[in-house]
Amino acid sequence: MKKSFWFGIAAVLVTCSNFAHAFEIYPLSDTQRCSSISEAGLVPVLDKVIYANPGAKDPALDNEKVTALLMGGFGIWKSKFEAANDIILKQEPSVLCIGLVYDAINKPNASAFQKTHIVFGVNFLTTLLHRPGIDSNAALKVTMAHEFSHFLQNRHGLVFEYKLPMLSVKMKELHADCMAGYLLSIGQNLNDQEFQKAQHYLSFIADAHIVGDHGIASQRREAFLYGRNAAVIALNTGHSELNTTSGDIIFACKNKYSWTR
Ligand SMILES: [Zn+2]
Repeated sequence: MKKSFWFGIAAVLVTCSNFAHAFEIYPLSDTQRCSSISEAGLVPVLDKVIYANPGAKDPALDNEKVTALLMGGFGIWKSKFEAANDIILKQEPSVLCIGLVYDAINKPNASAFQKTHIVFGVNFLTTLLHRPGIDSNAALKVTMAHEFSHFLQNRHGLVFEYKLPMLSVKMKELHADCMAGYLLSIGQNLNDQEFQKAQHYLSFIADAHIVGDHGIASQRREAFLYGRNAAVIALNTGHSELNTTSGDIIFACKNKYSWTR
């Protein structure tokens, strides 16, 4: 066999191995790509609509519409970081699964886990969208940015190690609030009025007591504002929205909410 043939094969293999899978966002209904959700003990919502109770006529939540809305929102950040050539989106598995799960009424929640999933509890989302006095649009944006920040923290392998375990959790949460403030200043931007509404929502969901794991209202607002200010400073000193990477954001927020990895 000619030597050039083997060189040719080798070149093809190298090219293939360099050609990482494109990062994609999938709905939880893609049970093949998003199958690991069951390992986390979560039950995905696969019905098209969700009814408040058996026999109810009007759906409480249109799963298909909400999932499409969430995928579109996260897709904006995906495109942004892809354009900035962010290494974090070149990691395997190159998948982010998005969707709704069944959460307990007394423990409504949203979460990011396994470097590949961001899920929203049905009860959590229903309350967020219908709570009087809360701007649902601002609340949804903050929640998405907060969970996307956890996704990025997980992908970067950040560790928050403080002497008190509860403080470690709180610092991770405040770091995510800080990142959310940054993210919402470089994509899906909040104007000043929306920013105030977002701050109001953060106060609403904050811990009631200093001994909590997410931070009291003033701490959550401060973290969110810190991230927003860091973004403004970065944009005024040579960074552009187009070349900001997730690395820039985790480091900007590290100045106040320190981590290792
Ligand atoms: Zn969180």
